[in-house]
Amino acid sequence: MRYTTPEVTEIRRQSSSEYIKAVHKKIAERNAGESEFLQATWEVFSSLKPVIEQHPEYIDHGILERLAEPERLIIFRVAWEDDEGKVHVNRGFRVQFNSTLGPYKGGLRFHPSLTSSVVKFLGFEQIFKNALTGLPIGGGKGGSDFDPKGKSDREIMRFCQSFMTELSRHIGPDIDVPAGDIGVGKREIGYMFGQYKRIRNAYEAGVVTGKNPDNGGSLVRKEATGYGTVYFVEEMLKGEGKTFAGSKVIVSGSGNVSIYAMEKAIEFGATVIACSDSEGYIYDPSGIDVETVKQLKEVERKRIYHYLESHPNARFGNDNTEIWTIPCDIALPCATQNEISRESAHALVDNGLKALGEGANMPCDEEAVRVLTNNGVLFAPAKAANAGGVAVSAMEMSQNSMRYSWTAEEVDEKLQTVMKSIYRSCIETAEQYGQPGNLIAGANIAGFKKVADAMIAYGLH
Ligand code: GLU
Repeated sequence: MRYTTPEVTEIRRQSSSEYIKAVHKKIAERNAGESEFLQATWEVFSSLKPVIEQHPEYIDHGILERLAEPERLIIFRVAWEDDEGKVHVNRGFRVQFNSTLGPYKGGLRFHPSLTSSVVKFLGFEQIFKNALTGLPIGGGKGGSDFDPKGKSDREIMRFCQSFMTELSRHIGPDIDVPAGDIGVGKREIGYMFGQYKRIRNAYEAGVVTGKNPDNGGSLVRKEATGYGTVYFVEEMLKGEGKTFAGSKVIVSGSGNVSIYAMEKAIEFGATVIACSDSEGYIYDPSGIDVETVKQLKEVERKRIYHYLESHPNARFGNDNTEIWTIPCDIALPCATQNEISRESAHALVDNGLKALGEGANMPCDEEAVRVLTNNGVLFAPAKAANAGGVAVSAMEMSQNSMRYSWTAEEVDEKLQTVMKSIYRSCIETAEQYGQPGNLIAGANIAGFKKVADAMIAYGLH
């Protein structure tokens, strides 16, 4: 069956790139001013020309228009009390973007910069990333503009309880399964799961992932995004006869993604020379001591500059863009969106960068991507390179359904299999659509096709 309208008939007369531009123009009008969301939708749509050309049925079925419109966007008030009894109000979000391949799945971010534009960009990316894993999960994202920095443990608990009191109406193990992201780790997930359990009077372990492994969480979930990024980049390097071994690596950030990317890169024989947090970066030419970073960030919840107290030869700088001016062979941006601009990309290229893997979501802006790829830097895009976290989340859902736990070795092996298969599917798809070696096109097209074909199979909605 084909769905056609006079507009569609007109559009079919235009070339596929005109069609893509016209659809994106409408998206820009409907989501005016939402720069991150428009950047993310354009990043995907601009790769789709070859696939739209070969499959005009995607036009007939309005797939692009439907993909860019979330199935549901929930915005809610989160009121909570601080330790002095003062009332605060934050804004909560959950975007249930696309449930074609499974329950909505994606993290919760607690950060003052969270807006509906950011949450929609992240939710949109999640659709394709999750599709690439090959596991049965749809795309979603959420969070709040709440700033966890400097809050007491009791304040975090009260905020999480208030947030979940509303969110609980909208989620469930077969409906929508949140997890962590920036500012949300196993402590926050624990408080939210506890509140959900209390409200529902049911132990639905699979309603959230990233739980403490002692209480229903999967082993290797914490490590999965960082490890997965390094597994993916190692595959990409191998494809060019290169490897992590013997290379100098910079990994921005010092959260879960960054810490475990550093750990795995070091295990693969690299020297990691710099990492950062929101207040600055540390440069340790002799190699970052990841155990110290773990102690500071995971146990003491301290700023990264305290690293210098035990490593006096390291240097600290408070301008985070400077981290990309340090010469390195491989860059793994694992902090946040748009952390690498055109200028930083030029600095990296001038210093001989060979490869870049996006551990964070959309860490390179559009111009940075152009500079890097035009200069022959091997580029592993976020949707593929950082899919390991959500892949192990899907494995956590499986274990919860079975009421059974896999060993760390079993999960790690499955994670490696997923990352290798994502790499293969990106390479093969890029080749098939006339862009050999272009992992950006490969990831976008492979993820898109999987969702688009299922959307057609499920009928118009
Ligand atoms: N927040 C992570 C991401 O960006 C993980 C999501 C999840 O585990 O559901 O993919």
